[in-house]
Amino acid sequence: MDRPVLLIGFYNKKALGVRYLEQALTAAGYDTVLVFFKDFNSVKPQPATEKELDLLKELILKVNPGIIGLSVMASLYLETVYKVNDMITSNFKIPLVWGGVFPTLFPEKCLKYADYVIRGEGEQAICELVHAVYSNKAVNSILNLAYKKNDATYINDIRPLCENIDKYGYPEVGGNNKYFIHNNTIATGDPQLKSVSYELTASRGCPFVCSYCSSVNLKRVYKGKGNYVRFRSVNSVMAELKDAKARIKGLKVIHFWDEIFSDDPEWIDEFSSRYKKEIGLPFEIWGHPLKVNEELISKLVSAGLYKVVMGIQSGSPKVRKVIFHRLETQDEIIKAGEVLKKCKVPQVIYDFMLQHPFETDEDIKQTYELCLQLKLPYELQLHGLNFLPGTDIVDMAIDMNVLSREELDKIMYSSIQEQYNMYWGYKNDSPVSNFWYALIYMTQFRFARPISKFLAKRSDSGLMRKLAARVYKGLQLFSRLRYFIKKGKLVLRAVLRKR
Ligand code: SF4
Repeated sequence: MDRPVLLIGFYNKKALGVRYLEQALTAAGYDTVLVFFKDFNSVKPQPATEKELDLLKELILKVNPGIIGLSVMASLYLETVYKVNDMITSNFKIPLVWGGVFPTLFPEKCLKYADYVIRGEGEQAICELVHAVYSNKAVNSILNLAYKKNDATYINDIRPLCENIDKYGYPEVGGNNKYFIHNNTIATGDPQLKSVSYELTASRGCPFVCSYCSSVNLKRVYKGKGNYVRFRSVNSVMAELKDAKARIKGLKVIHFWDEIFSDDPEWIDEFSSRYKKEIGLPFEIWGHPLKVNEELISKLVSAGLYKVVMGIQSGSPKVRKVIFHRLETQDEIIKAGEVLKKCKVPQVIYDFMLQHPFETDEDIKQTYELCLQLKLPYELQLHGLNFLPGTDIVDMAIDMNVLSREELDKIMYSSIQEQYNMYWGYKNDSPVSNFWYALIYMTQFRFARPISKFLAKRSDSGLMRKLAARVYKGLQLFSRLRYFIKKGKLVLRAVLRKR
């Protein structure tokens, strides 16, 4: 019997990538073991500890896999990926394969660490690779594969995109082949079983071309290989959700992780009527200002849509269009907000990237002015610009003399904690920019809007800038308290229900 295939996902116990590969390998007749290495923590992310690496080493000794796959979705986690990779190569002689967005864009770089790289969608390629490794066959004809041979690097062509993505099945919840290593302990079993939320995607690909996102780079990798944006059938989505609901006893909410949720009227019609009857749990989606449509959103709300997170990113038309390559106008954004309000979406969150090197004080002021025009109620998610290796905005920063290659490398490949520190909170020392940032934050609170307007009229005053900073800190504290009270109420309700 073949040795199992061990797949490791990082900082995500739901890790859809490795779960989809598990499906493909199981269907091809291979045993798999999945390791979810460390949990996601957006405030204090920790690199791998020695103890956690030891736990992984012991598990590998016990499982004795024939091949190990690392899912390297983001460069953010490279620090931990390198540590895990080092531990494996210094203790074992097991072929290593890397897959995910980072290896897809940088196969040569990754082949310094791994024996193989799978580029793009890896379901078929991993099965062919495992078959070749286990039967000692050549790998030179495996599409999507990159590999080394006699010190030379070979990057094979990409296979056409699978049109019918229902063929991939869907991730399995549960199973005794899963392990969760976190906080210096190892737990056997699928960590997802204890979750109150379930994440899935009903599609693959995104039609937009934002310069800071790797979706456009992946689209280029697949140029001429078929439709990049594809949707699963409603049947397939319902089957997955019914399975998840049956297995996860405490399931309370569904997160659709699609880059862009479907706006196909027929799909939405079928989905909305079936979801309400067959699943009946609140769900959230990512929205896009150009995809918000009153008829469709109202159907989704009646089916259970409770939260839309919509990326706006900047209130400056120049930053949006020229820097971020987002084509929606101020009016289209405002109108999308009005539709969400009219359809009574219970929770609307607008996402902005602020205080990056492309933004002027005038740009951030325009973001404040746009936020004032967006209809309450809404919440704001304010963060920095995360330069992802390989994305267009990296080259733009160099071409426009905004940052040097060395500075960008320092940012993109710094430690996980440093990258998060750059992402949250004030991101520059400009008192003017920090003033407008604070005012933007205030716009989401009805009672703080008049204060923000009062301060905006006195933007030149040092005293008003200090006052804005104080109000901002106070509101942040208020938000945190409100969040914990909400969470506490939910926990209390769950405990009372169990009794
Ligand atoms: S809309 Fe979202 S997923 Fe699509 S390219 Fe822009 S940032 Fe990426």
